[in-house]
Order: sequence, then structure tokens, then C-alpha cells
Amino acid sequence: MDQNPLLTPAFPSRLPEVGTTVFTVMSALAAKHQAINLGQGFPDFPCDRELIDDVNGAMLADHNQYPPMAGVTELRHGVAQKIAALYGHDYDPETEITITAGGTQGIMTAILSCVGPGDEVVIIEPAYDSYRPSINLAGGKTIAISLLANRNDRGQVLSYDIPWDALENAINPKTRLILINTPHNPTGMVWQASDLERLALLIKNTKALVLSDEVYEHMVYDKHTHHSIASHPALAARSFLISSFGKTYHVTGWKVGYVAAPMAMMKEFRKVHQFNVFTVNTPMQYGLAKYLQNADHYLSLPSFYQSKRDYFQSGLQATGFKLLPAPATYFQCVNYTDLNIPQSKLCEAEFCTWLTSEIGVAAIPVSAFYASPIESGVIRFCFAKKEQTLSDALVRLQSL
Ligand code: GLN
Repeated sequence: MDQNPLLTPAFPSRLPEVGTTVFTVMSALAAKHQAINLGQGFPDFPCDRELIDDVNGAMLADHNQYPPMAGVTELRHGVAQKIAALYGHDYDPETEITITAGGTQGIMTAILSCVGPGDEVVIIEPAYDSYRPSINLAGGKTIAISLLANRNDRGQVLSYDIPWDALENAINPKTRLILINTPHNPTGMVWQASDLERLALLIKNTKALVLSDEVYEHMVYDKHTHHSIASHPALAARSFLISSFGKTYHVTGWKVGYVAAPMAMMKEFRKVHQFNVFTVNTPMQYGLAKYLQNADHYLSLPSFYQSKRDYFQSGLQATGFKLLPAPATYFQCVNYTDLNIPQSKLCEAEFCTWLTSEIGVAAIPVSAFYASPIESGVIRFCFAKKEQTLSDALVRLQSL
């Protein structure tokens, strides 16, 4: 029998287990209920006008055609100088740095460039939700291990540690790539220099590469320091380093980031990149190159965000939420299971839906960072917001 020509043929999904990303879902729910959106990670305050002037200046100077495939030369040089100054590793801007359409594209492209069928990729959950689908599209197999949760005697998570034994057990001759994320979304955990050394020892006689997602590199507080993969020579020699101008300069909607990697890895990365996005919008790159010359723009971020975190934390002390450590990133995780309300028994996703629709504050369930449902009674708030936004949210949260 003839097929109905007006019907779309059967279309098996390449990503059957994937729905819409939780960040989009929660932002849409927040908009629907006019809730204060502390869910998806983005600032609600404007970026520096100087940066906008720099981009406008680039457009008016007619920088509006395709830039070089790997990115505007001045921006790649600026990134190389920044990494050299902060982390002591010299990447060649001509061959080892590529400007991407945000961190997420850099991650997907890096994975597609090195992972194929039969390859195993280790991720450490809770993990950013793009990692696993990117591995699937590459045909690789995800080996997920979990951060070690330190719990109190009632089973509530207090903090997290790197699961060294599980990581060692996960590594085998099929391991092609290990994804790490420091500072870590959603827990804020930061890798120490000794952690990088331990990772280097674990993989030194293997073919495993590393992808280090460092998009929150400039948001580290208190006594903590960011230790980039670039600061460890043996790891730098086998790693993709990912970062994001959107996160650093409060312009998440511009979707501009970068990847740094040794030449042999970057050569393959660019082969995928050129047929994926080809290149990234030109005037933003010229504007960012100019703005990047002033290191204060990123060196001032820790104190800028730490005061937001401290303000938010002190307001949360007046609630029944239990605060987990927030040493970095712009996220504060809290445990809600001690709240004296019936909803404290809900699973994380249901709690976040309720909190958004009934209380008017959106948050992200940490369970969304795991493939199999793991419930720890923990949700994530983003404090990259105007003080007024945080104070309005705190009034609502203090009513619980
Ligand atoms: N990284 C951001 C977060 O964790 C969101 C990025 C996105 O929505 N794609 O909230």
C-alpha cells in the first residue's frame, strides 16, 4: 500500500531519553507564573556599558563580515595572554585557541572531535545536562560516577568530594575522555592543585583525554582559588579547556566562549567546529577583545559575586532551608527537607515546580544533574541577581 505522502515518515529519536533542558523548562515556568527566576543561571543586571560601546564601535567600524574560522585574531591573542598570566601555560593563539558560540558548543564540539563508537567517557554527577547527550550523539558510552556526598546522621547532604576510588575504577583502556567541571555547577566545589595532580597520575599511562569545563573560573570565594587544567602541564597536554565570556562578562545571551587545547587536539576540534557553527559573530569578538585587555573586568568578579552570595546566604539563614557550602560559581544549593511544610516531602522536581508556581521563586532541582533519579532533597538557586531581586525572593522564601 502507498504511504500517505502528507505524513512525515517514522523518525526515531537520536536522543530518546532527552526532553527539553531543565533550565529552559524552569525559566518558562517562572515566566508563566511571573515568579522570580533564581533557576537558570544568568544575571538579571546589565553588562558594563563600556562593553556594549566596544561592540557598537566594532560594528560601526565595519567588522561585520565573517571573521577567521577560529575566531578574531585579537581575541585569541587576548585569551592566550590571560591564560598565560593567570595559569602559566602558553597556548599558541594561532593553533591552540578557538572562539566558540558559548561553552556548551565548545563542549559538544570537543566531544564530537575525539569520541566515537566504542569509546567510554567518564562524567561525574551531578553533571551539567549537556554532557551526556553530546556523548550519545558522538556514539560514545557515558560512564557516570557520582561525587561523594558527605551526609549528616539524618542522611542530609552536607558537602561533596571527588570520588577518587570510583574514578580510578572507571578508567580502563576504552576511556577516551574524562569530563571535569571546576568550579562545579551546581555544587560550587573547586578542584585543588593536589586534585589535578592526582588526576594526572591516574591517567598518565592511558590514552584518556580530559575536558575541563571552567566557565565559572572567575567566581571563586573566601579562601578558595581556581586551579585551571592549564596550570598543570601534564594535564594541559591532553585537555580541552572550556570557558565562557557570557558568564564572565554578564552577557550569557551573546553566546561567546572559547576552547584551548594542544595543537593536535585543536586541529581535530576545528574540523568539527568549521562545519558546525563555522565561526562566531564578528563584532562581539572585536568588542570582547578590547574589553578583555583590562584584567580588572574579571579580577573584580570574586568580590562582586561574593557580596551577592553573602547577602543571599544571610537572608536564607532566616528560613528553614539548610545551606550547603557555596565556595564558587553563582549558585547556592540548599536542602529543603527540614522545612516545616508538607511540600518538604516532595521530590526535588516537584518541589521546584511548587516553589515556582505557588511561592513565586524558581529554582533548579539538583536531581536534573543526574541521569537516573537520585533524590537528595537539594535544590539550586542562582544568586547572580540584583540585590532587589534577591531581597524580593528572600521575602517569599522567608514566608515558608
Ligand atoms: N549553565 C546555566 C545553568 O546551569 C544554564 C545554561 C543553559 O541554560 N543552557 O543554569
